[in-house]
Formats: sequence, C-alpha cells, structure tokens
Amino acid sequence: MSKKLKVGVLGATGMVGQRFVALLDGHPWFELVAVAASSASAGKTYGEAVAGRWSLPGEVPASTARLTVGNAAEITAIADQVDFVFCAVDMPKDATAKLEEDYARAEIPLMSNNSAHRWTPDVPMMIPEVNADHAKVIEAQRKRLGTKRGFIAVKPNCSIQSYVPAIHPLLGFGPTKIAVCTYQAISGAGKTFETWPEMVDNVIPFISGEEEKSEKEPLKVWGTLSGGKIQNAAAPVIGAQCIRVPVSDGHMAAVSVAFERKPTKDQILSAWKEFSGKPQQLALPSAPRPFLHYFEEDNRPQTRLDRDTGRGQAVTLGRLRPDPLFDWRFVALSHNTVRGAAGGGVLTAELLSAEGYLTAR
Ligand code: NAP
Repeated sequence: MSKKLKVGVLGATGMVGQRFVALLDGHPWFELVAVAASSASAGKTYGEAVAGRWSLPGEVPASTARLTVGNAAEITAIADQVDFVFCAVDMPKDATAKLEEDYARAEIPLMSNNSAHRWTPDVPMMIPEVNADHAKVIEAQRKRLGTKRGFIAVKPNCSIQSYVPAIHPLLGFGPTKIAVCTYQAISGAGKTFETWPEMVDNVIPFISGEEEKSEKEPLKVWGTLSGGKIQNAAAPVIGAQCIRVPVSDGHMAAVSVAFERKPTKDQILSAWKEFSGKPQQLALPSAPRPFLHYFEEDNRPQTRLDRDTGRGQAVTLGRLRPDPLFDWRFVALSHNTVRGAAGGGVLTAELLSAEGYLTAR
C-alpha cells in the first residue's frame, strides 16, 4: 500500500481501545491520527487521559500520547481527520447503534467491537478467515444508508472466536450439535485484578448475555448472503455455558461436537492443519500463519503459555478425543482482547482495505 489510510479510534481510552492504540502503532497500512472518548476525557492529551489506567505492557506509544482526545459525539470534527474509524465505546446499546450509524452516514466506514449492530441483517459480522465473502453485503447496506463509502462492519463476540474457527474447517462433515463451556478472562469485562479483586481465587458461573451470543452469533457468521442480507445458517444447534475465571486475558472453550458424517481423528487434524483463510491467502499484515495451531501435548493449550500465539491472532487447539455423548471433544483458546476484539477488528480492516471497501478520501 503506497499511502497509509488515516484512522481514528472511538473509545480509545478503554481496555479494547488501548489494544487498538497498541496494535496500530507502526502499522504498515494504517496511521492512527485521531483518538476519541467521552466528554470526561475530551480535551486531555491521550497520555493524560489514560494515566493510571494504561493496562498493557510497555509505555503508551509516544505519537499517540501527544494526540488530544476528541469527543466521539462530535462526528464532523473526527470525520474531517480520518478515512475510517474503529469503535470500542462502552455506551447503552441504542446510543451506540445511533453513534455508529451517524459515522457511517457521514461517509466514515466504521469497524465495531460492539454488539449494537450485530443483528442488523446487512451488517457483516466478520471473522476474516471464516466469512470474508460476507463483505459483499456492504453494497446493500450502502444503498440503505444512502452512502457512497460509509458503512458498518462488526466483529462477533469474543466468546465464539475459539470454537467457531475450529469447527469451520469441519463444516463438510455436517456438524449437528455443539456443546461448549467457555472459561473467560476478566479483561472481557474490561477489568483487571486491581479493579476486580473479587475475581482472585474465584469462579463466577454467569456472564450476562454471553450464553445467548455464544449460541446465536455463529449462525450469522456461517450464514449465506441473499437478497442484500445475511440469512442465518439453520445448523448446528449450540448449547453454551459461559464461566468467568481468574485469568487476565484469554478465553478457553471445552467443546463437544456431533456430526452427520463422523470424521476420523486424522481427518479432523488434517482439516485443521491445512486450513487457511483469505487473510493468509492475501498475506495481510496481521494474519497469523498458521491460523489454527494444534498441540499434541495433553496439557496444552494453556491460557498463560499459548494466548499470544501468532501475536494473539491465532487459535490454539488440543485434547482432541472421542466423546461418549457426542462424537468428538477438544479444547480451544483465543486471546479475547486481541483476536476477540481489537486484533480481529484490525484484521477485518486489512481485509476490507485489500478488497477495496476501505479507501483513502
Ligand atoms: P471500557 O474499558 O469501559 O472502555 C469504554 C470506552 O468507552 C472508554 O474509552 C470510554 O471513554 C468510552 N465511553 C464511555 N462512554 C462514552 C460516551 N458516552 N461517549 C463516547 N465514549 C464513551 O470498555 P471495554 O472493555 O474497552 O469495552 C468496549 C466495548 O467493546 C464494549 O461494548 C464491550 O462490550 C466491547 N468488547 C469488549 C471486549 C473485551 O475483551 N474487553 C471484547 C469484545 C468486545 P472515557 O474513558 O472517556 O470514559
């Protein structure tokens, strides 16, 4: 890419926003030129706004620390500076939906981490290796919005980003039923052990709204494009239990699957080994190679050891073995604030840029 696209981050001061800032530092295709948050942060330098709450290793990138934080609600002021934005605000759902659509209508493409538009039928909900073809629905969305370049693309919930990539290469065997139990990190709630000390030495068997998302969102990701909408897949049926565990980053899933045509263990392992998606084929800057990494060791993947595989963009798998109730069971792990949030957003933007949906103004 000859000239970098200028990008802004809405909600840049939050936990996911900080990840965006870190991932965009030195990015070969995108240049972070605008950071925005609530009116409480607006007017401060980014360095001042995140002082005492920068939650990532290392310093705040110097070029971003100097930027003045804008108010995300002042759309024209942000839009004037950028070619597109990432959105990771934590606001009520209706307000988020409106803010995101206002940016799209102002001709600013927006890649969202939020759930507000996940069920809008002409908004693609993307895991770039799994459903890159859903980008085509953007044309229908632009028609509805009356825009030439503005649109919204979203990423699915972090909880599904370990097991959906693992099941995807096995769709040819007709998975009918999936039982999944997720073990989710506290950063998924925007928390650290300092801000959520009750999680030390503790497990909480409830994450509001998470089980419904974990059961339903895969069906849109595996849906088909027809009549300017994504039509959800009818199968497999998914039953999910989502549990908060005392881990800083990394969501693990224990998965059992039944198939119409039961594959052999070798067929599953070679499907995982051979799988690569559009990001790998296009050699996108953030694409992990390989995307799926299987461990032969019985005690892997482990959250602390393996969540950063492929710079946090890969999915690690292990413990594939027969299941007495279903056909096969295994364990999967992905980094919730990288692949499950900001990293997935950056990879989606790279894909949409390579495919001509994101361009300089
Ligand atoms: P967070 O740490 O609480 O950060 C929230 C961000 O939103 C801050 O930048 C905050 O700005 C901004 N904000 C709050 N009210 C605003 C307003 N009225 N106008 C503009 N900006 C406003 O939250 P988070 O964990 O980063 O999560 C952000 C979003 O991503 C949430 O919708 C969450 O559900 C989703 N998500 C999170 C994860 C994860 O792993 N954490 C994964 C996937 C998706 P101030 O600093 O100025 O208050």
